[in-house]
Amino acid sequence: MAKQKIVDSNPARRRPYAPFRALTRALGRIIPFRLAVLEDSRWVRLLDALGRPLGVRLTGFDAFTWNGTVYLARRLLDTRAGYLVLRHEAVHLLDQRRLGLAPFLICYLLLPLPLGLTLRALFEWRGYRETLRAYRERDPKLARRRAASVARQFTTGRYLYMWVLGQSIRRWIRRELARLERTNGRPPRGLEALAELSRLAPKGERDLEVPGPDSIID
Ligand SMILES: [Zn+2]
Repeated sequence: MAKQKIVDSNPARRRPYAPFRALTRALGRIIPFRLAVLEDSRWVRLLDALGRPLGVRLTGFDAFTWNGTVYLARRLLDTRAGYLVLRHEAVHLLDQRRLGLAPFLICYLLLPLPLGLTLRALFEWRGYRETLRAYRERDPKLARRRAASVARQFTTGRYLYMWVLGQSIRRWIRRELARLERTNGRPPRGLEALAELSRLAPKGERDLEVPGPDSIID
């Protein structure tokens, strides 16, 4: 009789994914930051209460970064999916520190338009370049498979239609995947500090916990 592997879906009993902790330590050496559980934050819960009439719910997100703190959904702590999300948030941490929080927010939310064609797309593109890099480190095929899902984050309501020109984002992704191949996974210009985050996770892992196509890596 073949042994069956039982997957325990209870995060409390699941074995922590060690590279997640290694990533928090390595990232902390690049930029000091705080990791908080999204659902435990009092102000997140307050904003959720205020946003309820508008249907806005921060606790529905996987993660977001604000003023040196990464708020991560509890289910992602110590997981492979959380590792990928944190690689993306690392870019927001760096960009918010470089620009300052207020200019970052004005650019992110309002310029040049609040939706359609936005600077938000530029900031998220920088984050998703790191996401693609992390996918590729796991498995180059995985990075190619996830390309369509990454493109959808830009053109759909997930980030309020931040870039409606789907063709251009798909072209950027193709070019980025080619660049990553050429440079053996080097971070793009301006994000060189993140180079040391490579190789924290073992190669060739099965992507059991990679969020689905409609899931957000914010
Ligand atoms: Zn993001």
